Amino acid sequence: RDAKNKMPVYQGLERFKLVEKMGDGAFSHVYKAVDLQTGQKVAVKIVRKYELSQSQEDKHLNPQFKKRPKVTERANILKEVQIMRGINHPNVVKLISFTESQEHYFLVLELMEGGELFHQIVKLTYFSEHLARHVILQVAKAIRHLHEEKGVVHRDIKPENILFERIPIVPSKDPMRRPYDEEKEDEGEFIDGVGGGGIGRVKIADFGLSKIIWDEQTMTPCGTVGYTAPEIVKDERYSKSVDMWALGCVLYTLLCGFPPFYDESINVLTEKVARGYYTFLSPWWDDISASSKDLITHLLCVDPVQRYTIDEFLNHPWCKEPLGQVAPTP
Ligand code: ADP
Ligand code: MG
Repeated sequence: RDAKNKMPVYQGLERFKLVEKMGDGAFSHVYKAVDLQTGQKVAVKIVRKYELSQSQEDKHLNPQFKKRPKVTERANILKEVQIMRGINHPNVVKLISFTESQEHYFLVLELMEGGELFHQIVKLTYFSEHLARHVILQVAKAIRHLHEEKGVVHRDIKPENILFERIPIVPSKDPMRRPYDEEKEDEGEFIDGVGGGGIGRVKIADFGLSKIIWDEQTMTPCGTVGYTAPEIVKDERYSKSVDMWALGCVLYTLLCGFPPFYDESINVLTEKVARGYYTFLSPWWDDISASSKDLITHLLCVDPVQRYTIDEFLNHPWCKEPLGQVAPTP
């Protein structure tokens, strides 16, 4: 393929052969790559160390002034790496190794061949409740591990940061109708033939904004609340609740195909979010279960104290329904 010839070359990354671009983030490029020493397929997240200064076009400038170091970046990358190293969960993307060159940071990651949940939503329009549950429960289990066992708040949960392990093939018939045929759901196969059983495994990626909540008494990450003072417990709950809001936004989007809060004007959008103003818009939400709406209502709740915690989420009846069965709307 042509694309192969266009792969950029990075000094310091000689061990890896870049195969194709997997995605772009705000601060990074991510490539599918092969570890030439082991043959292992991986993903490499490449973050540039320096920003080109605004005067880069000025050819008269001394070259040494053309580069402006991003002062906060190093600490941020090291934190992302430190947090990822500490996590070992089937629904969290694993960090394989970390290296850097003069110009770049390289995070070598477990390869998620299936790409972003975001792209699957765009492709399918929206998910059946069964499929949405299958995906969101995996995300929730990762969040429970982060919140309850690691004291980590992700802070950037969104469909772009939820990745499929393999390329899912989902039966999709008439594009004008419900695009996902629930009866055919379990016939979904992965392209490499490994699959069966639906859409497969998803994992949370991108710990670039995440944070460890430290317990000041024990100097260990906040997990379970033992001797912790109420104000710290409250703090911890506030910070964790940002992931729960985001989880509600992802679930809403999965079920109907558009996000709960949207406006062309950023000011109006900000106001809508601040007031928690969203609706279950007809006709799109007409056939979606009351149970899922109840769950979303407890997540998209402006008061973080009222908002469901991850355990409350996982104990909601909608999550308890067996995979494959959807309660009828009363
Ligand atoms: P940023 O912090 O810049 O948003 P991300 O870690 O989210 O960087 O990566 C950007 C994009 O690259 C993701 O949205 C996804 O499309 C892709 N990507 C990231 N990690 C992987 C991975 N392990 N496997 C496959 N694609 C990935
Ligand atoms: Mg990202």
